[in-house]
Amino acid sequence: MKKIFSAILASCLALTTFVGCSNSNDKFVVSTNAAFYPYEYIGEDNKVVGIDIDIAKAIAEEAGKELKVDDVEFEAALAAVSTGHADAALAGITVNDERKKTLDFSEPYATSIQYIIVKEDSDVKTIEDLAGFKIGVQNGTTSQTILDSESKEGVLKDTNTKVEPYKTSLLAAMDLKTDTVDAVVADSLLAENIVKENEGLKCLELVYADGSTTKEEYAVAVKKGDKETLELVNKVIKELKDSGKIDELLLKHLNGED
Ligand code: GLN
Repeated sequence: MKKIFSAILASCLALTTFVGCSNSNDKFVVSTNAAFYPYEYIGEDNKVVGIDIDIAKAIAEEAGKELKVDDVEFEAALAAVSTGHADAALAGITVNDERKKTLDFSEPYATSIQYIIVKEDSDVKTIEDLAGFKIGVQNGTTSQTILDSESKEGVLKDTNTKVEPYKTSLLAAMDLKTDTVDAVVADSLLAENIVKENEGLKCLELVYADGSTTKEEYAVAVKKGDKETLELVNKVIKELKDSGKIDELLLKHLNGED
């Protein structure tokens, strides 16, 4: 009896040791930037939550691994994947040719457009109306790329428009409230949330005077050439899309349920 008991105890201990060890191989590491509601943000208990985090959980589960979320700055989240510090990055990342040079992308799982945030009494209607403005954008994002290129060689060329990079779009919006910048450009859902939470601001779709708009697609980024992770991610994305789960997650987070 005693022998059986110690044998059970020994195997329990072995199991505990096995489960408890934190070899990076039993973790699926996802890098993100938790300043992008509803995709990733800080929820109750100071935990990173959001649509992307729920998707990341499903990916880690499919991989049979425990999920580890690294919350870093947006550019660092992308870099973590190319340097092998993370298995994937989920941060509402827009797929574009520039990023495709250093990263591989899954099938897209969401679409977005750029929004302009201004003070409530502003009469800005188009991107051309931002001529001569100081515009806040989150560093390393497509909002920055679009504004940089429009002010250097596009519709805002030679208008003395300045693009100010910030750590987050929310910080840029705080500076808009105090007139340190004249407008902020950010992805639609985040812009709408910033306006909802901050009195005196409004937002509008970024349209050009000729009526054209921006359209972006979000996808999961993996290390270039990492076919195994990409296949796994695409399998999960397809399942979540086909079952309507991505739409459910969007509603869940927009309704304030972490
Ligand atoms: N979709 C934008 C981009 O990829 C912004 C993402 C973000 O701020 N997390 O650049």
